[in-house]
Amino acid sequence: MVARVCAWALRPTVVCGGGTGRRAALRWLSPSWGGAVNSRFSGRFRSSDMNDALRKDERNKIMSRGLPKQKPIEGVKQVLVIASGKGGVGKSTTAVNVALALAANDLTKAVGLLDADVYGPSIPKMMNLKGSAEVTSKNLMRPLVNYGIACMSMGFLVEETAPIVWRGLMVMSAIQKLLRQVNWQQLDYLVIDMPPGTGDVQLSVSQNIPIAGAVIVSTPQDIALLDARKGAEMFRKVNVPVLGLVQNMSVFQCPKCNHETHIFGTDGVRSLADDLGLDVLGDIPLHLNIRETSDSGKPVVVSQPESNMARAYLKLAAEIVRRLPVSPT
Ligand code: ADP
Repeated sequence: MVARVCAWALRPTVVCGGGTGRRAALRWLSPSWGGAVNSRFSGRFRSSDMNDALRKDERNKIMSRGLPKQKPIEGVKQVLVIASGKGGVGKSTTAVNVALALAANDLTKAVGLLDADVYGPSIPKMMNLKGSAEVTSKNLMRPLVNYGIACMSMGFLVEETAPIVWRGLMVMSAIQKLLRQVNWQQLDYLVIDMPPGTGDVQLSVSQNIPIAGAVIVSTPQDIALLDARKGAEMFRKVNVPVLGLVQNMSVFQCPKCNHETHIFGTDGVRSLADDLGLDVLGDIPLHLNIRETSDSGKPVVVSQPESNMARAYLKLAAEIVRRLPVSPT
């Protein structure tokens, strides 16, 4: 017998992953704990006779004691996170099309898509999925499937029109559920669409599960680049390998005269990548079809697979796979 998930599912009391781990995670995320660490450090190292390396080492030791233990998601071989510093730069569009492209490039691979953008879940719309997730007898949520991709999103757990205004524990509880209480069966790749920014959710995901690689999406605009840099630096700090950057919407080609315009600047993402010692994994044009197909729930990789836009995503997905560590068999 199956039940359906409803709003009760988001009570902060229901968190899996073990008491110690959970307490550790909350402690790690709690501002007061962070404050305690900082004050301990400022007191301890005020004398300047200790060099920087020792101080860093000591700090790392203390910090690592409070970190939650990373545990793989059951049945998932590799997790790929798609992140951005800023909202609205095309992160979800990239996540959706990359997931579809990973599956299209290699038909033997099973791909899943997890919408961790709890504040603004857009995967249900982009993947043309509606409804709520079923719960199995083992109390696991069953992903909804379209275009061959298993999907899970906050959007399947709350009403589309409900304002998502949770704070702290509610969000963490939701993330824990999305990470631990989904029956993915067997996946080669799980693509996670992260919320924008470098907040608790990003830290929590990075600390709780092993991530094979992070991909940062940005437009070439200064303001987006500034946040993309922060995103890349955050992942590096928590030892998540950053595979590279994606330059989105750099060039607009007029559908009538083919004239090309660099609306958000030309090569800002490339310069940032150089600066960070990273590569640009792909360049996705600004195109009406990408926007329209996303909005209508027929992403360009499935609805116009021969188009230049779809090819750009297929190439990006191949580049990502090339940079992932060899998958465990
Ligand atoms: P984010 O996840 O970063 O907030 P979205 O993926 O939701 O951003 O994209 C924001 C808007 O921009 C959406 O309407 C989407 O269809 C559109 N968009 C994203 N990438 C492109 C692109 N390359 N060309 C045209 N429109 C795009």
